[in-house]
Amino acid sequence: MPRIVESTTLAHIKDLARTSNRLVYGMQSCWWKVGSPLYTHHIGSLPCGPRGEMLLETDNPMGFITAAENSVDYYGKHGLKAFVAAYHGNLLDDNGSPTSFKTWQEYNDLIDKQLAEPLGDDLKREIARKIYVPIYNNPALLKHQSGLTKLTREIADRIVAVIEGRRCVWTYDRVKGYWSTECGWGFPYVYEFDFAERQFCPHCGRRIEVKNAA
Ligand SMILES: [Zn+2]
Repeated sequence: MPRIVESTTLAHIKDLARTSNRLVYGMQSCWWKVGSPLYTHHIGSLPCGPRGEMLLETDNPMGFITAAENSVDYYGKHGLKAFVAAYHGNLLDDNGSPTSFKTWQEYNDLIDKQLAEPLGDDLKREIARKIYVPIYNNPALLKHQSGLTKLTREIADRIVAVIEGRRCVWTYDRVKGYWSTECGWGFPYVYEFDFAERQFCPHCGRRIEVKNAA
């Protein structure tokens, strides 16, 4: 099952596009890339997309991106998020190789699926386990109001502990000027990220733990 990793953000793609005069995009897929395709994939002497799709190209990468930004509805429910997910290397197959989908609907469906993950089954199971234990060990608590209050507080503490225990480590590469996150996301250091204001990773929803402060 392919996975969207969004390793290249729109801001980063635009940085590339400003200094490039070539952008290639799939004829039979949504895949696209600034610059030349780096693939060993070829049909005859023609380079092609990650699944062997034929490519078209433009000499105006910024024009291509601006056109997309002006017609976000075209990309479906998630708009530009789907457009960026189709960028080279932002959709990986099980082996970690770049791949592509044929339709925007497939990108939107996968975005929906991944958005549901941060508080998905995994976390629910973990919380349920932590709640189940104190109830199972202390059935007598349920018989009295004070016991119930105590149990409710204990459950709340345990839920907070589970959420707090899940961190996303952010590492800053000073040389590249690039942030990468434990959950497989990254972006260039193009703006000041306010860690006091935004304590949770916008990609995975876990609390941010900064490794190398910029
Ligand atoms: Zn994260």
